[in-house]
Amino acid sequence: MTRFPSITNIGTLLGVWAHPDDEAYLSAGLMALARSAGQRVVVVTATNGELGTNDPVAWPPGRLGALRRHELAASLAALGVTEHHLLGYADGGCAAVAPDRPVRQLVELIRAIQPDTIVTFGPDGITGHPDHQTVSAWTTAAWEASGRMGRLWYSATTTRHRDEWGALNNSLGVWMGDGEPVYADPADVVFEVDCTTALPDEALLDRKLVALRAHASQTNPLIEMLGLHVYRRWHEIESFVSAVPAEPAREPADREAAAVAGRDEHRSGAGTDVLTLPRQPSQVAVPSASEGLPAEPTRLGLAA
Ligand SMILES: [Zn+2]
Repeated sequence: MTRFPSITNIGTLLGVWAHPDDEAYLSAGLMALARSAGQRVVVVTATNGELGTNDPVAWPPGRLGALRRHELAASLAALGVTEHHLLGYADGGCAAVAPDRPVRQLVELIRAIQPDTIVTFGPDGITGHPDHQTVSAWTTAAWEASGRMGRLWYSATTTRHRDEWGALNNSLGVWMGDGEPVYADPADVVFEVDCTTALPDEALLDRKLVALRAHASQTNPLIEMLGLHVYRRWHEIESFVSAVPAEPAREPADREAAAVAGRDEHRSGAGTDVLTLPRQPSQVAVPSASEGLPAEPTRLGLAA
């Protein structure tokens, strides 16, 4: 059995992110697989990332923003993604923008693209960056306003990632927010791309590395600091949770009734597709293509 067919059930994929490089860190593997499967992938980036430097004298915002747009174009090209929209909001300034306009822009894009799957940050913003948190809120509001077109997934950092990489993340000061980073329970993950095993010979992770290295202004310092091997492993897993919390486990009789009613476990966010070749026996249980995510746009119920 292969896990590849389930990528086709992602359908048309729309990613909404804050800065050039967010899309590569959090979804390069997902995008590359979707494009390889012939699916449409569209990326929206809210800012040009013009403040992404420790040396603003050498890299004034106008110049860095232009550089990062080119880096983004090169990164997306490496993944086969040809459709991209820049919204042009100020880097670091998204939270200060009245949400009406960006939400309206995203609603228009959602209606035009008709995505089956939308991916963005969770409310925590992955790193706690206010731009990430704001883009999550904009995207969620736009999804609601569009009549919940397609399924909305949030990129997530799991406790499994924390156990392996938490010390490094802490030493680098990755988390910008107050309090503690938000870690997802692996049981809540509805879709996961393991870039080390999704394609033979770690080819997907190598392709993601190409996409990340295209964002050289951002990734070169980290690669120099960590070494290529560690850097490459750092983002090998892409995890997504449903914006709609999983429903509580139902009694068998309820599940039967739900099946009769034609409901799909995946629509409740309860199922997980792990997009990877089997590596350990525990990872072998995979939904068959027929059990995969529905190809039709799914309308999910958002719990209060
Ligand atoms: Zn970012």
